[in-house]
Amino acid sequence: MTESKDTKPKILLLTTGGTITMLKSSNGALQPCEDANKLIKAIPELSSLAEIEILPIVNIDSSNFTPSTWLTISKAIFQRIKDFDGFVVAHGTDTLCYTAAALSFMLQELNKPIVITGAQVPLEEIGSDGRSNLINAVRVAISDLAEVAVVFGSQIIRGTRAKKMSAFDMQAFVSVNDNPLGKIGLSIKYDDSAHLRSKKKPLLRPFLNSNVAMIPVYPGIKPEIIEYLAQTHSGIIIEGYGAGNLPTDENINLIPAIKSAIERKVPVVVCTQCILGSTEMELYQVGRAALDVGAIPAMDMTPETAMVKLMWVLGQTDDIESIDSMMQKCFVGELHEVK
Ligand code: ASP
Repeated sequence: MTESKDTKPKILLLTTGGTITMLKSSNGALQPCEDANKLIKAIPELSSLAEIEILPIVNIDSSNFTPSTWLTISKAIFQRIKDFDGFVVAHGTDTLCYTAAALSFMLQELNKPIVITGAQVPLEEIGSDGRSNLINAVRVAISDLAEVAVVFGSQIIRGTRAKKMSAFDMQAFVSVNDNPLGKIGLSIKYDDSAHLRSKKKPLLRPFLNSNVAMIPVYPGIKPEIIEYLAQTHSGIIIEGYGAGNLPTDENINLIPAIKSAIERKVPVVVCTQCILGSTEMELYQVGRAALDVGAIPAMDMTPETAMVKLMWVLGQTDDIESIDSMMQKCFVGELHEVK
């Protein structure tokens, strides 16, 4: 697909709120504006690139997103997948990477792009990045890509690898533990690993058990917190130190709580709280001890992606062995499998 075709490609733009369409309220705080469509229609470049149809989904700060909205977006796209050449989701940046991961797991075997974007500065304000991000998102949505991708600044990032790195910089998102899918400069260039348009048949895989808790370890964490989470949740993500290390000394030992969680059939997945790198839980006794009682290493998945994936996996099975093997299997580029 090229930008200079006679008949314009058809793009569905799903709006969900976020800074991109926010306005300042009387107390100076940003909040969703009443008519997000009006702001977006103020970018004439969009309609010269494509025939754009707007579908409002919600109009909220993405801090108020709940997992059920991921399902709503996935289903809305899947119902219309044959009717459009590509999809753009305008989203708040705060939880954008959770939604990007969720759409990646729920909409597989894609034959066209689903692009998620947002802005650090509202479209209405001077210096907004919303205009260029939206235009670039549409350019990617009419391009040859066929994946869920985050388009932000100059980066095109696989949906399962994106992370909000900066609350200040215009390049707010980075690709973690993998190359970006592509770059936007003088033109758009894709990495060799990017999946391109094909004759695949898209699949909706709308599985979700959102009863998952996520907690970082920190010096002084009380094991009772893990015990409580095991009693109240279907799965737990623990953000360990470094290679997936956890406190194991007397009084602060998390291992008995992890063991009893797994005995109650509550999977415990351990990821790293470092931005980059992978779990390597065999490396230190403080990681191995958790592996020995059945903790599942998240390897090089981001905590956000590991959390969304555990919800998606738990939506399909409660068998601990199946959960373990699914969490360590790569479905949509979310991890490098250990062979
Ligand atoms: N709080 C906003 C949101 O996530 C931040 C943003 O969009 O940049 O909706």
